[in-house]
Amino acid sequence: MEQEKPKYPKYLLKHIVQCPHCGADALDHMTSCPKCKGELEPRGYSPIIATPTQKRIKKILSIILYGILAVLLIIVLYERFFS
Ligand SMILES: [Zn+2]
Repeated sequence: MEQEKPKYPKYLLKHIVQCPHCGADALDHMTSCPKCKGELEPRGYSPIIATPTQKRIKKILSIILYGILAVLLIIVLYERFFS
């Protein structure tokens, strides 16, 4: 008996989800069904995009870094003029 040819390559199979609206196959990162355009809940949202919290931490870190540099500069200038 011949095996049925798989619809999708193996690496894609685990990313296939069924549309709750029409039952069509969709990929798990899709936000809308390719067939009926119904809303889908994307699984495994792309972690590449930085979250607002990560952006805030980066901003705070750069402010601290510039603050330290500014303080060092002030100390160097202060010692040059007042010693
Ligand atoms: Zn659908």
